[in-house]
Amino acid sequence: AGSLYVVATPIGNLDDLSPRAVRVLGEVALVAAEDTRHSGRLLRHLGLSRPMLSLHEHNEASRVDTLDARLLAGDDVALVSDAGTPLISDPGFVLVRELRARGRRIVPLPGPCALVAALSAAGLPTDRFLFQGFLPARAGPRRTRLEALASREETLVFYESPHRIRDTLADLDTVLEARRVVLARELTKAFETFLDGTAAELLTCMEADPDQARGEFVVMVAGAPARGEAEQSAVEADALLSALLAEGVGV
Ligand code: SAM
Repeated sequence: AGSLYVVATPIGNLDDLSPRAVRVLGEVALVAAEDTRHSGRLLRHLGLSRPMLSLHEHNEASRVDTLDARLLAGDDVALVSDAGTPLISDPGFVLVRELRARGRRIVPLPGPCALVAALSAAGLPTDRFLFQGFLPARAGPRRTRLEALASREETLVFYESPHRIRDTLADLDTVLEARRVVLARELTKAFETFLDGTAAELLTCMEADPDQARGEFVVMVAGAPARGEAEQSAVEADALLSALLAEGVGV
């Protein structure tokens, strides 16, 4: 059987496409793309012309058998999304899960990913981070999600669109208050910008310069302060004292 190549494509700068990705895109029998018109332009730019098939969140499940039949016939297939790494807040998970369950060979072609690019330059801890994709669009569920994350010590990472960036910053200001926030905007593009401050400071900055609210964003938030060992042992001593008192032991 052929292989499925999961191919990362640029998030704004065409030079970020790897030579290996170019070679594989030129060699596969079929390119499954989130948006065939969008990825068709990328292929044309590379001087390539390949048969394409759309694969997006609404038809992904129904494409599995079609694509598997091609693999079984010996064809190699590439999977691409509009930008960055497929499956990372993009279609492809159902396809990869099903094909892996059927024992097909799946080959990742690593490359651009906004999450990793943003973290690599933000200056927030990267030893542990919690990627949360897009926050819920509605205000209530969005705040509930942030409240659930408030005690996590890992760096928090979100994807965000220009339509909601201010709402998200306002909610971060309410729920996570004075935490340090780093905004990575328009990564790898002409107006790439990193903004660093509290959510309130970043909102003020956007009011002063509305261009700062345009484009694509990765929002990174410092994790909750780690519980120090001293604090931890004080908590344990408290618990012990309460247990002893509950048992009526005189202390
Ligand atoms: N699969 C992509 C990846 O590997 O990063 C992510 C796709 S997701 C549908 C799109 C979101 O990724 C945007 O709303 C934004 O949050 C983030 N993103 C994509 N490109 C970006 C860029 N050039 N600069 C900042 N964020 C970007």
